[in-house]
Amino acid sequence: MAQSTESYKFLEDSAQTPEPSRRQVNLWKVLSVEDDLDYQSALVSSLESLILPNHTKLQILTANSAFEASAILSTHKDIGLILLDVVMEEDDAGLRLVSTIREGLGNALVRIVLVTGQPGFAPEKEVMSALDIDEYWNKADLKLDKLHSIVSSNMRTWNYMSELAEASQGLKIALDAARSINSRYDLTTFTRTVLAEIGNILGVKEGGLFCMANSLNPFEDAHVLTATGCYTKLEGLKLADVQLSDLVNDLQHALSEKHHVLTPLRSVFYFETKDINDKCYLIVVNSATPITDAHINLLKVFSENVSSGFTNIALLNRVTELAYTHSDLNIPNRNWLKKEIQSMCRLEWQQTRLLMLEVNYFDEMKFTFGYEFTQNVLIYIYQNLVQLLPTGSRISLSGHKQFSILLDSNFELSHDLIDKLTYNEVKVDGVAHVSSFTLLDIRFDTLKQIPAERIVSMAESELKQASVNNINYLQHSQQETDLIDRRYRLMGELRNTIRDGKLSVMLQPKVSLSTGKVVGFESLARWQRDDGSFVPPDEFIAIAEASGLIIKLDCLIFEKTMEALKSLVSMGYSIPVAFNASSFDLLDPDYFKFVEKGLDSFDIPAELLDLEVTETQAMSDYERIQQSLQRFVALGIRINIDDFGTGYSSLAHISNITAHCIKIDRSFVSKLETDKNSEHVINMILKLGKQFNFNIVAEGIETEYQKQWLSDAGCDIAQGYLFSKPLPINELIEWLTVYNKL
Ligand code: C2E
Ligand code: CA
Ligand code: CA
Repeated sequence: MAQSTESYKFLEDSAQTPEPSRRQVNLWKVLSVEDDLDYQSALVSSLESLILPNHTKLQILTANSAFEASAILSTHKDIGLILLDVVMEEDDAGLRLVSTIREGLGNALVRIVLVTGQPGFAPEKEVMSALDIDEYWNKADLKLDKLHSIVSSNMRTWNYMSELAEASQGLKIALDAARSINSRYDLTTFTRTVLAEIGNILGVKEGGLFCMANSLNPFEDAHVLTATGCYTKLEGLKLADVQLSDLVNDLQHALSEKHHVLTPLRSVFYFETKDINDKCYLIVVNSATPITDAHINLLKVFSENVSSGFTNIALLNRVTELAYTHSDLNIPNRNWLKKEIQSMCRLEWQQTRLLMLEVNYFDEMKFTFGYEFTQNVLIYIYQNLVQLLPTGSRISLSGHKQFSILLDSNFELSHDLIDKLTYNEVKVDGVAHVSSFTLLDIRFDTLKQIPAERIVSMAESELKQASVNNINYLQHSQQETDLIDRRYRLMGELRNTIRDGKLSVMLQPKVSLSTGKVVGFESLARWQRDDGSFVPPDEFIAIAEASGLIIKLDCLIFEKTMEALKSLVSMGYSIPVAFNASSFDLLDPDYFKFVEKGLDSFDIPAELLDLEVTETQAMSDYERIQQSLQRFVALGIRINIDDFGTGYSSLAHISNITAHCIKIDRSFVSKLETDKNSEHVINMILKLGKQFNFNIVAEGIETEYQKQWLSDAGCDIAQGYLFSKPLPINELIEWLTVYNKL
């Protein structure tokens, strides 16, 4: 639908072609999309003749179809204005191009001015409301002065919009950065970006300042946190010490009036977050040339974003503070410790050690003197640590009775200091109490770079072990790391193995020394890993106990024991089988219910079951374990006290303990040939048993000598490799057939 050039008189004003300025030429891209080539060449020469503000020169691109235009637009992303013909290869080609630009190319910035020679094809009102275009002109109305005002006003708008888009992009980056890094750095990163962005808006590259103050007495408190360009030297100064009087006046003015102070050459922005933390902030940006109203409007919009940026950071800091400090004592906490460890670089890792210090008898102290007392104890210890340890040591209260300190691994822990750290006076309300501590010392270079949580929990369990074993200073070694590593891996594997029911049992016979008959069995847990190797029960039982898996494990083993027992009974061997239980099991009502239900569902008489619990565990929580044992006895289950002699149980308790049988620990039996002392212990236990009517089983009999000695000493029952190793149920049944024939 081409029209002839004659009907358009662009050159009405006969403006001269301007000389491009030598000093600074701003190029601005305009695209003419037009299928009428004559009209387009008239338009282009008119555009070339325009004199634009700020020495701007137009770079004019042309396209003769919508298709060609979209190709140009996708390579020139910085086109500022499109003069777009509506009717081209199709009647609505121009209109369709608008959608392509806005939605397809995602270009929201480019200004689109529709020009048409046939307004009837695309009525202005409908087009303007349906499409994202900026202006609509009839070709006939497009005289040179109109063209000038269209180009220059759209150029201004486009410039502002691009700057705003850039600025908000910058702000977004600043906020994201602020969120992700440590709080202190947040504010700096944020304000540096803000300063740079304001500089961009004003077209100045240098010369900004950021002050922060407490809003209660802002001027006295204000200090310069960030400074760039001509202000660089002011960084770190208190505002009161800044010598530039006119600058200080403007800042004081903003602080007292609590609003922005915008002068032609200096913009001072005032922000506050008083709802969150009583802080107020000043941002100062200098400009070499006076700022315009347009600048001010833009800065005001921008400052809204900055204001919410400050609010976000203040909120984040508040949350961070809560998450990383002990709420009552205001000392960094376990999360903080983890964060510090997590953020260590490789070099720091090589040069850092972790001291973990536990207050011994803390819980008893709390019980006797109360919560407030122990809080004061912690504060005292904290202050003491600050004094004893080198400056720069990072101290945290990482547990309710445990401090963790990160310090330089080159710092020498002298004997004297270790003594002071493990045994010291604690003064509360002027009264001195002597306290002892357990100290763990880990150099990070003995550890692999594993997650902080694992390091901290590993240290915690090591510290606990040390404190249980009355070791007051423990140095962590590489070997320990490997061991802990293995345990950690096994723990995960064990959890799955239990879940999949993949543990098994082996049974070991107990033999009467007087008759030679098999009088019982002990069921022992076995774990064969997927690679065929066996994990020793002592190792995995300890892991299960430490990780809370023991009850599940023992329930599974109990079930397997019942299955084995069922097989024995069905083969005609109605002989009691003992299963092992830990103190955790006994203290858990669900475990009891599980056993009770098992008896029922397997239809096995309780008399065929013995429960074995070690002496140490039976005595660990004597009263409650007693009650629990009595419930099992009430069911008809007999109780064996295992590993007897190793737990130093008091005689007073032994006379009352709920038990039918005592098992002499293997360590005494195995030393019979060599150690007279063992004879004494065994004789004493046998006597005790007779006196209180316990049956006595000796475990770990490996030699004829041991068997004979025990038999002579009057021991009833024996268990050990001499008779048989623990065997899977089918092998045990074979063994029984052979044994009974002898
Ligand atoms: P325990 O209850 O004292 O079990 C006796 C241990 O001595 C068993 O070790 C058994 O295989 C071993 N033993 C028996 N006769 C001899 C012998 O003549 N010489 C030698 N050197 N050893 C002998 P095992 O099977 O390695 O079990 C170790 C410990 O693990 C058990 O000691 C028990 O405390 C615990 N345990 C095993 N199964 C379970 C279970 O299902 N639950 C719980 N809670 N603990 C279990
Ligand atoms: Ca046992
Ligand atoms: Ca034992």
